[in-house]
Amino acid sequence: MLKTTQKLFRMSSSYLINDSKYSFLKELGLQEKNCGVYDGAWKGSGESVKSICPSNGQVIAEVKYGTASDYDSCVKASQKAWETWADMPIPARGEIVRQIGDALREKLVPLGKLVSAEMGKIIPEGIGEVQEYVDICDYAVGLSRSMSGAIIPSERPGHVLMEKWNPLGVIGVISAFNFPVAVYGWNSAIAMVCGDTVLWKGSETTPLVSIATTKIVVDVLEKNKLPGAIATLCSGRADVGKAMAADPRIKLLSFTGSCEIGNLVGVEVQKRFGKHLLELGGNNALIIDEDADLNMAVQASVFACVGTAGQRCTTTRRLILHKKIAKEFLERLKKSYNKVLPRIGDALDENVLIGPLHTETSVKKYKDTIDQAVKAGGKIEFGGKVLNGPGYFVEPTIISGLPHDSPLVHNECFAPIVYILEANNLKEAISWNNEVNQGLSSSLFTTSIEKMFDWIGPKGSDCGIVNVNIPTNGAEIGGAFGGEKHTGGGRESGSDSWKQYMRRSTITINHTKELPLAQGIKFE
Ligand code: NAD
Repeated sequence: MLKTTQKLFRMSSSYLINDSKYSFLKELGLQEKNCGVYDGAWKGSGESVKSICPSNGQVIAEVKYGTASDYDSCVKASQKAWETWADMPIPARGEIVRQIGDALREKLVPLGKLVSAEMGKIIPEGIGEVQEYVDICDYAVGLSRSMSGAIIPSERPGHVLMEKWNPLGVIGVISAFNFPVAVYGWNSAIAMVCGDTVLWKGSETTPLVSIATTKIVVDVLEKNKLPGAIATLCSGRADVGKAMAADPRIKLLSFTGSCEIGNLVGVEVQKRFGKHLLELGGNNALIIDEDADLNMAVQASVFACVGTAGQRCTTTRRLILHKKIAKEFLERLKKSYNKVLPRIGDALDENVLIGPLHTETSVKKYKDTIDQAVKAGGKIEFGGKVLNGPGYFVEPTIISGLPHDSPLVHNECFAPIVYILEANNLKEAISWNNEVNQGLSSSLFTTSIEKMFDWIGPKGSDCGIVNVNIPTNGAEIGGAFGGEKHTGGGRESGSDSWKQYMRRSTITINHTKELPLAQGIKFE
């Protein structure tokens, strides 16, 4: 009888959440219809949207977005929660973040699978993203026992000059579709130990990931009898993001997304003299010099160009090859591309290496870019075709023959398209690496120590991430992640990135009964 009821229920809805292949969704507390707003209670009075699985174009489940008034209640609840959170000793906040890390460990696989289902990256990458959040929690716990100010020598007798760091208040996080968990993790784990409360707006196309992640965090807060609104969520479209940018109650706005939208957000925040942390688009080059180990370089290039179906901000978009090795390298690269071609498919299939593009719009942008490249005189060396659905699949593509400064080569198309450029020497290759507006990730393959140091020096790569003999990618969490120029200049995760989530007070205390002025000035 029970079986029949279950069968009837399954038939009553074609949503993937009711399909046994997607049973991990219910392990995360998701349902057919989900509230997309959390301000201490789950709600959502805005439009109801369907979240689509890019591997098959089917609806996973529905989400209710927030309205302007939902947003306002999130900010107010977050401000109220801050009153409690900011008073807790930093190591006590670290203990909560440690528990969040443990709770994420327990949900590592289901949450990773949800990332694969909703964003479209393959399972190891989906799980890897959640692991990044776990790792940054560990890092933040360490920070909660070690972050410190400074005592600076004072020139005045009986005076103490020091630097103290205090939390900012409510910080906003707006994230992109392609890292629906990790970006929130990098920001929120650090911001939470710093004593900030966090209001999150995830991408409008990955709302289920935002909801499932917030449920995990809130569960820990509530178990510790803390206000859940330390971690608020307001799912929605650009309207919510715009409200955050214009709102002086948001003391820092951390924005991850395209250069185009990041520019709008940055200007809006600046208008109110607010703080922003911008993590924007990249146009990453991988240089292969004449003395490079080609086996390593080919292997790294395939991963860097086609992994995540070209939807990483750090994906290699330009392969700059030394003329002497260009022909051989390209032949070997094409052979490797051929090997991955049969492994395009459903991101949840364990044998798949390349999942789908995220939306139909992404497929259109891929196709338009290829058409324009051919019109501009480019040669398709590999791929170039949209694959038949269901799902948003395309072939990884290599294009040669365009000038290094062609507008297409200078534009970030968020798809697996790489341009081959041939340079006469490393100096020329570095100048091409640096000539684009973006400045995120870069890599050089060489066996020459001298060239390695040229590359990381003042006349080398102008990017935030400067690699040698590894693919273009992000940094491990202990390092600061981010880029220069139109990539926005923000830094997240490790090193001293935590300072952005706090305000610095330079404090002078006179513990005498005298009033000496600095520089020996007499004012009497
Ligand atoms: P996007 O710019 O379209 O959207 C990003 C976020 O901004 C979304 O949450 C969206 O709803 C919101 N938004 C849209 N309009 C807004 C507005 N006017 N005001 C405020 N918020 C607004 O980017 P996307 O397509 O989701 O992500 C891909 C882009 O993100 C690529 O350019 C990629 O390189 C970049 N990215 C950068 C990093 C990094 O760390 N540098 C990481 C991931 C992605």
